[in-house]
This record gives sequence, structure tokens and C-alpha cells, in this order.
Amino acid sequence: ARQFTRPLNDLANQFNTFLSAIAGAERVFEVLEQDEEAKDEQNAVAIASLQGDIRFDQVAFGYGKDGHTLRDVSFHARPGETIALVGPTGAGKTTVTQLLARFYDPDRGRILIDGRDSRSIRRDSLREQMGFVLQDTFLFEGTIRDNIRYGRLDATDEEVEQAAREANAHGFIMKLPQGYETRLSQDGSGISQGQKQLLSIARALLADPSILILDEATSSIDTITEIKIQEALARLMEGRTSLVIAHRLNTIRRADQIVVLQDGTIVEKGSHRELTDRGGAYARMVASQYETKPIHA
Ligand code: ADP
Repeated sequence: ARQFTRPLNDLANQFNTFLSAIAGAERVFEVLEQDEEAKDEQNAVAIASLQGDIRFDQVAFGYGKDGHTLRDVSFHARPGETIALVGPTGAGKTTVTQLLARFYDPDRGRILIDGRDSRSIRRDSLREQMGFVLQDTFLFEGTIRDNIRYGRLDATDEEVEQAAREANAHGFIMKLPQGYETRLSQDGSGISQGQKQLLSIARALLADPSILILDEATSSIDTITEIKIQEALARLMEGRTSLVIAHRLNTIRRADQIVVLQDGTIVEKGSHRELTDRGGAYARMVASQYETKPIHA
């Protein structure tokens, strides 16, 4: 998770430095393109909308020259489905999401989005169709309203507030002395970790993407906020293809498909029922991780 939020946090930092001059999200991503990010193919096309069909086809990837961070990763999500990525730290879950967002491209194999090789889709247009709700939400210095509106820059005040309502954020925002005009510092101090998550869900709802990348928080969040987050996430995920780095058994159980990663490769794949019945790696993981301390279950 740390690795993934890094590019986005850099983005937020760069964003701050020219916030007053910024024209749109497009500009922000241009800054990143100077980095060692995956390059667009010369004839890559911009896509205006997506169904959200995602297929990883024998994907291999290494960060270094001869590294093997991911090997032979294949799975398929139909539009609207939820895939839960589970496995120990370092298994490659974050890397899978980074490849989907084209922070990197596969060394071997392909990622097909709506049947099209992701390398042939312009990265900026791809990311416009993606929403991110990550552990470390990236907030920038500005009002709460601006921070939500970042999801869609031409959204009206009403649309911003509507998204906040759907994200269960409106209530806490209205309790702040300055409501939507409350200024946040870049680290979002002044609001809780859980409230930051609600803001990022509001932002994603406003953006209305067809693909979601979610990294469930592992930090402790009070029970009431936790319920609000779960509820808001369920609304956000409705009708969108979601790739979730999942830590909560609840989320994992509800996924259409669970992909169990270990050492960069898929060891099991299936529904909670199927994998539990199989009594393999997933069943053992659930038993050891959740039954003894069902914190989030
Ligand atoms: P997970 O999300 O399952 O914890 P990651 O995808 O973050 O796993 O990491 C998979 C492996 O790739 C780990 O061994 C990690 O150290 C390595 N890795 C992750 N990001 C980078 C990076 N930017 N550069 C080099 N190695 C990395």
C-alpha cells in the first residue's frame, strides 16, 4: 500500500505548488509523465467510457531488471464485479493495482480492459475512468469542498454536497464550524482518519468511474465511522468493477472472486464458499487471521 500511495502523494505535493494556477486534473498527471512511468504507445487511444471488463492474462512483472514481483497472474472481472486481493504483506497485491492503473506495464502477458490491451489506452484517459480510495487519502491544502470537487472539477456545489451525502460525509462536515468551507491542511489534520476516508469516497462518487481501486484501511477506526465507511463503500462499488486490497473478512466474503496471492503468484482463486470448502491456503488464512481475533469481521 505504501508504494502505491507514493505516486499519488507526490502528485498531491506537486498539486499544492501550483494549486492557484491549476486548470484541471490533466495537468497534474502531466507532471508524473516525466517520471519513469509506463509510456503510452505511440498510437494509444483515448477512451471516453468503459464497461469495466478487466482481464489479467499471464501477467509477469518485476521492479528491478531481473526481479519477479509478479508471475503468471491471470484473473477476469466482469463489469460490476468485485475482486478481493488477499495475501501476506509483500505478496504483490499493490503491484497488481499499480499495473491496472498503468503506473507500470507488464513485462510479459497482457492486461485487457474491455478486451483492449491496456498499453493501447492512453494513461490519462484510463485514469479518468478509475476511482481510488486508498489508505492514505491524498488531500490538498484547500477547503473540504475543493477536496471533494477534485473528483470532477466542473461539479456544482449541489453535486459536491450530494456526493458527500451519499458518502456519509455530509453529517460530520456540517458539524464543523465552517462546514464545506473548512480549510484542510495537506495532511488533513483536524479531521480523523475515518473522515478522510469518507471524503475520498465522496470524491470518487463525484468522479463516477467505472473501475475502482480500493485499499482497505488497516488502521483502527471507531466503530461508528467504520460502519459509515462500509455503507458508503457499498454504495460506491455498486455497478462498478472493483479491485480491492482487502483486509476485512466482511469485504472478502462479499467479493465475487477472491484472488489469493503469495510471493507474487496466485495460489488460489474463487468465492469465499469455494475456497473455504477447499481447505487450502485461504481457509488456513481465514482461520489463523480472523477466527482468533475477528476485529473487523
Ligand atoms: P503487497 O501489496 O501484497 O504488500 P507489494 O505489491 O507492495 O505487496 O509488493 C510486492 C513486492 O514488490 C515486495 O517484495 C515489495 O518489496 C516489492 N516492491 C513494491 N514496490 C516496489 C518498488 N517501487 N520498487 C521495488 N520493489 C518494490
